[in-house]
Amino acid sequence: SSDVCSSDLDNRSHQAGGPQAKQVRDVVVPEGITVAELANRMAERAADLVKALFKMGMMVTVNQTIDQDTAELLVTEFGHNVQRVSESDIDLAVDTAEDPADALKPRPPVVTIMGHVDHGKTSLLDALREARVAEGEAGGITQHIGAYQVEQAGRLITFIDTPGHAAFTAMRARGARVTDIAIIVVAADDGVMPQTIESIQHARAAQVPFIIAINKIDRANARPDRVRQMLADNGVLVAGWGGEVETVEVSALQKLGLDDLLEMILLVTDVTEPVADPDAPASGTIIEARVDRSRGAVSTVLVANGTLRAGDWVLVDKTGGRVRAMTDYRGNRLKEAPPSTPVEITGLDDVPSAGDRFVVMPDEASMRAVIKERKDAETEQKDKRLSLDEILAGISLGEVKELNVILKADVQGSVEAIRGALEKLGASVQGTTLRVLYDAVGAPTDTDVNLAVASKAIIVAFNVRTPANVVTFADSQGVEIRNYQIIYNLLDELETALRGLIEPTFREVVYGHAEVRAVFRSGRGEAIVGTMVRDGIIRRGANARVLRAGEVVYTTRIGSLRRFKDDVREVASGYECGLGLENVPDPRVGDIVEIFGRERV
Ligand code: GDP
Repeated sequence: SSDVCSSDLDNRSHQAGGPQAKQVRDVVVPEGITVAELANRMAERAADLVKALFKMGMMVTVNQTIDQDTAELLVTEFGHNVQRVSESDIDLAVDTAEDPADALKPRPPVVTIMGHVDHGKTSLLDALREARVAEGEAGGITQHIGAYQVEQAGRLITFIDTPGHAAFTAMRARGARVTDIAIIVVAADDGVMPQTIESIQHARAAQVPFIIAINKIDRANARPDRVRQMLADNGVLVAGWGGEVETVEVSALQKLGLDDLLEMILLVTDVTEPVADPDAPASGTIIEARVDRSRGAVSTVLVANGTLRAGDWVLVDKTGGRVRAMTDYRGNRLKEAPPSTPVEITGLDDVPSAGDRFVVMPDEASMRAVIKERKDAETEQKDKRLSLDEILAGISLGEVKELNVILKADVQGSVEAIRGALEKLGASVQGTTLRVLYDAVGAPTDTDVNLAVASKAIIVAFNVRTPANVVTFADSQGVEIRNYQIIYNLLDELETALRGLIEPTFREVVYGHAEVRAVFRSGRGEAIVGTMVRDGIIRRGANARVLRAGEVVYTTRIGSLRRFKDDVREVASGYECGLGLENVPDPRVGDIVEIFGRERV
């Protein structure tokens, strides 16, 4: 995409904003968008998008609609920032865009359960499944296919059956955005623990709203309010405690509070309103996959957009095939799987990886063509990876400041999650490159140390013990082995290291947007407006600008921030709040308040 960027330099340089010539754009991505419109928002050429889509295995014309996940992939691929839209924007989309919004229908929310080990994630998933899943053909025995659905008040909710943020982030690292809502389980007798915080970080990083399930309230030493206090101490303000994060008290063991939890999920769903186009060709994510001796590759897929049908040609990464049988979590045979439905399918040539995205192709020939192109590209990539000399040459030239990493971790889930997070970290610190040269499951070895020497890398060990002889060898070779137990700490330290490679500069960051829904007071002094937070977070005291029809009309500060009658410090996406804006004489309904700040780069 680098040639794309340079050829569009002239186009972009007149755009107001950052100091660099290359303009990185914040691109608003609704749940469905035509290629032409997306190109327009990115200030890229539609033809380049079509080309990139082809490489991703999708054959579309400029006037066709693509789903949000795909659009987001494109936006990042071209080096821009994604901005998600929430319900209010979808209304806007109806006004401005022609057809795509019409096709979008509500779909069940997809929920992931995260939290500290032993706090009851698995028990909660089991309790919901046992209590709420209707019987299927397999005689009431639910099948563990990686996801299931429950019904509440006549509405469906999809649960991902693999708990934990490692799995969640590994999927995200592969480009999949599966989850609409996260449930963070906290044991009422144990409270907030490191992985609780990590889970919250992951949910926030993914901009996924979350609900706290305070579990094990049946225990004599359960202290739910202590959990709320501990959350507050960690910067998570819950409803009733001056914040917005909802909590629900449950007991997975005694099946208490399950209805409340499901009701809360539906309430959050009513705010975020997930939608999809059931008439589109299906696309979605692989949740699980394995080889079955008699059935071949068996994969559980979650349909994100469109409707998957038996007989469809499905492309996944560098494999594909024709969907033979489709079965749901109750063992029922299905002919069709609409959006948010998890189904187990057979018929793929090979076993894909969890988190891979799938798309339905028009026919076998086009599917095979893309697979071939991807395999060729991979061979090229491999040749490149072999030439460590090139990497060394890059360092000595001194143009690119690099941090090379060899990653060793306890399980594949951690490896994938950390690698994904590191790649993102590398991309976020401008002027440097962070390369994960190698990653694998297991403790660091002498071979790893040798590789580190050859490529001037550091070794990052996560949740593994480095044998004493390897430590000695590494010392003698001047290789650094850094050990971590918490992903967050690992990322934090590497970020510091990376920032240490460059001179400090500052860049602007946008924290969030709120749309003005009502003007209560204007004129001189502080204007008071009622807003809906569309994305990110609104903070009292933050810098802000008022956008009208995309133009900055005022630069101001959030003088006061209120939710109902209460003064609050911050308000998150999806909530209404009152803002006091300094020196904005005439705010109008429909204005967008953009909250920004400066961050050390
Ligand atoms: P995970 O590691 O988060 O998946 O936790 P598990 O679901 O494996 O639960 C850990 C332990 O807590 C198990 O021994 C469960 O029986 C127990 N447990 C889970 N939920 C409850 C609950 O609501 N009440 C009580 N008393 N024990 C629970």
